[in-house]
Amino acid sequence: MKRVYLDYAATAPCDPEVLKAMEPFFFDKPGNASSMHSFGQEAKKGVEDSREGLASFIGALPDEIVFTSGGTESNNNVILGVAAALSGKGNHIITSAIEHHAVSEPCDYLEKKGFKVTYLKVDKDGLVYPEDLNKAITDKTILISIMHANNEIGTIQPIKEIGKIARTKGVYFHTDAVQTVGHIPVNVVDLNVDFLSLSAHKFYGPKGVGALYIRKGSRIERLLYGGDQEKGRRASTYNTPGIVGLGKAVELCRKNMDSEIRAQTALRDRMIEEIPKSIPEVKLNGHPDLRLPNNVNFSVKYIEGESMLLSLDMLNIAVSTGSACTSSSLEPSHVLLGIGLDHATAHGSLRITLGRWTEESDIDYFLKHLPKVIEKLRAMSPLYEKK
Ligand SMILES: *Cc1c(COP(=O)(O)O)cnc(C)c1O
Repeated sequence: MKRVYLDYAATAPCDPEVLKAMEPFFFDKPGNASSMHSFGQEAKKGVEDSREGLASFIGALPDEIVFTSGGTESNNNVILGVAAALSGKGNHIITSAIEHHAVSEPCDYLEKKGFKVTYLKVDKDGLVYPEDLNKAITDKTILISIMHANNEIGTIQPIKEIGKIARTKGVYFHTDAVQTVGHIPVNVVDLNVDFLSLSAHKFYGPKGVGALYIRKGSRIERLLYGGDQEKGRRASTYNTPGIVGLGKAVELCRKNMDSEIRAQTALRDRMIEEIPKSIPEVKLNGHPDLRLPNNVNFSVKYIEGESMLLSLDMLNIAVSTGSACTSSSLEPSHVLLGIGLDHATAHGSLRITLGRWTEESDIDYFLKHLPKVIEKLRAMSPLYEKK
């Protein structure tokens, strides 16, 4: 039976070429990149080649890249590390209401420790308004953190404009670019950012490795102590295979990005057009144009996202939902509430995300089965009956 993976925003499969590039660093080149012998130097070369490739890909200098364990660590390092470095200057942080938890939870933590955090509201499409940011900045503001593109609804923020405001006011600006690096062009100079987080497994690299861009001269404290790796900015033995895999993933994205954007945008737009035709009372979430090429997010009235997800799973189709009944809370996604959906509508959301190996036939299969699944679930829904 066909298996259709439409959950690339959760994680992407590793490209076989990435795995091939990593393999020697498990076996023939097992050295510790900090060791002086030739094994160490070979490993170090793998790390530094990857650093150079990534730096040039995002318009940074190699020295401005710190390898981490992924997006979560990069985000935590910025929020906690800037707060620690600049606590003498101020205690105010500005972020948005729809950030990934890897940004919002360290902010919540700082709030408990006495910091003040402003959560900027977004409009119905998920956009932050730069003028709102401008008004929120005070002389105590030490950091602004706004994600590049949202992982649930795909909305792409006006990062360049926000960065211009931050720079004019002399406030550090971080963007969580985990959903954009490798998927759309990202350049740290164009975007006016001081810090940027990225993660390899979202762009066909291995899981458990990412990077943090730190603009030259920026003040930030480290998270991990216990070694001098990364010029003292992050301790722990270099994850050589992972870092090499990240570098290879970058190389492949550089080569394929333009054609992948075209292919995914076409499939995305086909779904956005066809789903409302075959299913009554659905609503697209996220911005119609300023959106990731691989993201589709719909709210389907009268039923739960979770039941759609499970029904589709029985047909070997993997998607995601902003309905959180499986997790410990019954609250729907803060992102969907953030764009103004009521609880019931937010619970009925479905996220479909595409990637390198998504084919037209996968979308055919999905579009064939989705209306039947929804019809069946609605037939059982007391909410649907009542209307
Ligand atoms: C996946 C994701 C993260 C977390 O990255 P990990 O590498 O899995 O820790 C952070 N932010 C966004 C927007 C993401 O999509």
